[in-house]
Amino acid sequence: MQYKRPAMHEQSIVESLLALALENAEKAKARKIISINLVVGDYTGIVDDAVSFYFGFLSKNTIAAGAKIHFMHVPGQMRCRDCDLIFPLQKRDFRCPKCDGKRIEIVGGRELYIENMEVE
Ligand SMILES: [Zn+2]
Repeated sequence: MQYKRPAMHEQSIVESLLALALENAEKAKARKIISINLVVGDYTGIVDDAVSFYFGFLSKNTIAAGAKIHFMHVPGQMRCRDCDLIFPLQKRDFRCPKCDGKRIEIVGGRELYIENMEVE
């Protein structure tokens, strides 16, 4: 699973992630989810603390209660459509540093998915 939409509300994101984590844990016949490695792109606008907060709240009375979430951040990356250069986002400067082109697209930083998780 991978969400492409940026800036979704954390609570609905956590609801989806938790549902998926529980589903996977059930398939693995796990009794408890220990930790979850979550990949978060910098363009998603997701705030770690908010995710942790909602997760703690929503996972009560599930086997994910008390699970630790590890955040793995993916930096934002842009690609120039004119010269194919891939470069990190330069603060609001949506221009190619090589050819000064303005036809720029986002190619990294919108990731949001569970990389893996530890269960027992
Ligand atoms: Zn360029």
